[in-house]
Formats: sequence, structure tokens, C-alpha cells
Amino acid sequence: MSDKFTGNFRGNFTQQEPIPDAGIKAAIRVLQHGRLHRYNVAEGEAGETALLEQEFAAAMGSKYALAVASGGYAIACAMRAVGVVAGDAVLTNAFTLAPVPGAIASLGAVPVFVGVTEVLTIDLSDLEQKIKESGARVLLLSHMRGHICDMDALMSICDAAGVQVIEDCAHTMGATWRGVMSGRHGVMAAYSTQTYKHMNSGEGGLLISDDDDLMARAVMLSGSYMLFERHLAGPPASAFETLRYEVPNISGRMDNLRAAILRPQLATLDVQCAAWNARYRVVEDGLRGTAGLTVIERPQDEDYVGSSIQFLLLDWDAAQINQVLQRCAARGVELKWFGGDEPTGFTSRYDSWRYAPEQSLPTSDRILRGILDMRLPLPFSLEDCEQIAGIIRAEVGAVYQSWA
Ligand SMILES: *Cc1c(COP(=O)(O)O)cnc(C)c1O
Repeated sequence: MSDKFTGNFRGNFTQQEPIPDAGIKAAIRVLQHGRLHRYNVAEGEAGETALLEQEFAAAMGSKYALAVASGGYAIACAMRAVGVVAGDAVLTNAFTLAPVPGAIASLGAVPVFVGVTEVLTIDLSDLEQKIKESGARVLLLSHMRGHICDMDALMSICDAAGVQVIEDCAHTMGATWRGVMSGRHGVMAAYSTQTYKHMNSGEGGLLISDDDDLMARAVMLSGSYMLFERHLAGPPASAFETLRYEVPNISGRMDNLRAAILRPQLATLDVQCAAWNARYRVVEDGLRGTAGLTVIERPQDEDYVGSSIQFLLLDWDAAQINQVLQRCAARGVELKWFGGDEPTGFTSRYDSWRYAPEQSLPTSDRILRGILDMRLPLPFSLEDCEQIAGIIRAEVGAVYQSWA
């Protein structure tokens, strides 16, 4: 079509790639033999879940890995393992998605929100202040939309204050900071394999750690009964000696069917990440220089995975932003806005999570009001991405001009 920049985009923002053939074949084998429960294995068989854990630990460079039912479960499990109990304050990002504060609330703990900077990472000076004010001993750090803060600076703040860091890597599976894999800075890190993340098993989660005691707790919590020795990426039996009597079973295991679907995806994760980044760069290049629109410049030290892209319409009125959303939607481009007063779809703001104590974060409010967000599904071609950027540029430009 010749009307690349005047026509409408016809792609689907929620369409995923198919599961690789190897995953479909492996899933059929599991369905045929019927041993779907992770501990239901034949003589000499390791099981898909145990193998996935072994391969995931190797891919992330961690000592241990545990596969669980969801990303949210992985986060809650990590918090239980580090000893968070009801009433504890837990620090987390003001800019994140609902399952993050939700996991804190699931333990009866209390979220304390830390502000967001203009490059969409956690505000480290606000973090220092909130550590002092709250007395919290745990930070649940959400690498929201794949933006990684200065992890060396963050870890030195948290180490000095005796704050344990749990990383939520739902958007950074495969990313690095100064060459260190995302998820390797904190005591534990959680990943999601839900459909919209970097590997797709419908639902699912993974947890990594190097710590014997924490991982033994997580394995028991996940519902291992006394079968923990069947894990190929778990701590030695000695780590379970007393824990086996003390740690409650809060069932949340992964099954062999999902693990079978995930293993071939893990094998090509780097290829997928490169494909996302190629799409990301095309959109980023297409948006750069648009009047009124701020591109989020990524730091040199960050090797991100561009599975979604964000930009700011900083200090625009709600009415102007709504116009941009509507005009882009009319041309087939689905943007999400983090600044809306009412939570919609997957998007909500820290002040819509009313189970958490009310907090005031005026600096962050200004940024949140300006954040636009768009998924970059892999079925989109580079040409599609060029067209999408052209549409956003034109529609932002039209609204900006009519108000300026
Ligand atoms: C998806 C997501 C989660 C939760 O993962 P589920 O597998 O859906 O439970 C947690 N944190 C972030 C930032 C997410 O995007």
C-alpha cells in the first residue's frame, strides 16, 4: 500500500506469535503420557518443570530457580521467603502494575510507594527518604516496562540501609544492567510467563536466587510436600532439614504442560529480544523530534528488551491527551495512558489502589499524567512499526498544533 503514512494501521496489538513447533510437540507428549503434575514422573524421568528450572537458572546465571503458577505468585512467594509478615511496610514503585501492590496486600503487608523519574525508573532520592520514613526492610523493585534504574546506586542505598531487594522482572527477562542480568542484583527475582510477557505459557512464573535458605523456603511454600529432592535447580536436602516442618505449603506450582511450552521459548529468548529491540528502535526513531513529545532516552549501561515503548506528553491537559488517544485509536494504533483518573484495562495508577494508605507524590503525578504506553507485539513487521510511529507523530502533531 502506498498510503503508508496516511492510511490506518490494521495490525492487532494483542496478537502473540504462535507457540514454537517444538513446544507444541512437547506439550502433546505431556498430554499423551498424562503426567501433568510436576512430581508425577516416571522412573528415571526428570519432568518438564524440573528441566525448565534447570535451564532457566543456567540462562539467568543463578544457582537456583523455581517455576510457579504466576508472576504474582512468584513475587508473593519471594516476600514470604524473606520474612515479610502482615503489617510490615514494603517499599515498591508508584509506577507499576496492579499485581505488584496486590502481592504486597496478599500478605497483609502495607505498600509504601516510591516515586518515578522522567526516565521512568524509581526515584533514588525518594527511595532513600522513604526507607528512613517507613522503616521498611524490603524493597519490591518493579523494573516497570523494562526501564532499569542505576542498579549499582540502588544496591548501595539498600545495602547501606539493610533493605533486602526483591526484583520484579516481568518486563526485563533477558535484559542486563552493565552486563549483569536483570534479576541478579537482589536476593530473589520474579518473572512472569503470562501471555503478554517475554515467554508465553498463558499463565506462569519463575523465581531465582543464589540463597540456599530463601530458595528452600520458596520451594516448600510453592507446594513441594517432601518431594523437594526432585528439583534439579533447588538447594541441597540439608537446606530443608528444619524448614520442612516450619514452612507452610501455599500451593502454587507450575505443571509439566506449561513447562513443556516454555522450554523451547527459553532456548530462543535472545532471538526474540533482538526482534523486539529492532521494532523498538524503529518506533523510537520515528517519534524522535516530534514537538511536544518526549522520547525516553535509554542509558548506555542498560541493555533493555523493547517489548513495549513509552513516551511522555509532559504537562499536556487531560483533554489534549484524550484527543491523541482517540485520534490514534481511530487510525488503528492502541495507546495506553497511565495518567487517566479511572483505571482501565490493565492500566491503573497508585492512587486507584485504595487498599493502600493514601500517599501524596506530586512530582510523580506530573510524570504519570504524561506517560503513554504501547505494546510492540512480535508479529508486527519493521514496516508496521514505521507506520505506527508515523501515525503517532502525525496525530500528536495535529493536537499539539491546535492547542499551541
Ligand atoms: C504481569 C506482571 C506481573 C504479574 O504477573 P502475572 O503472571 O500476571 O501474575 C507482575 N509485575 C508486573 C510489572 C507485570 O507486568
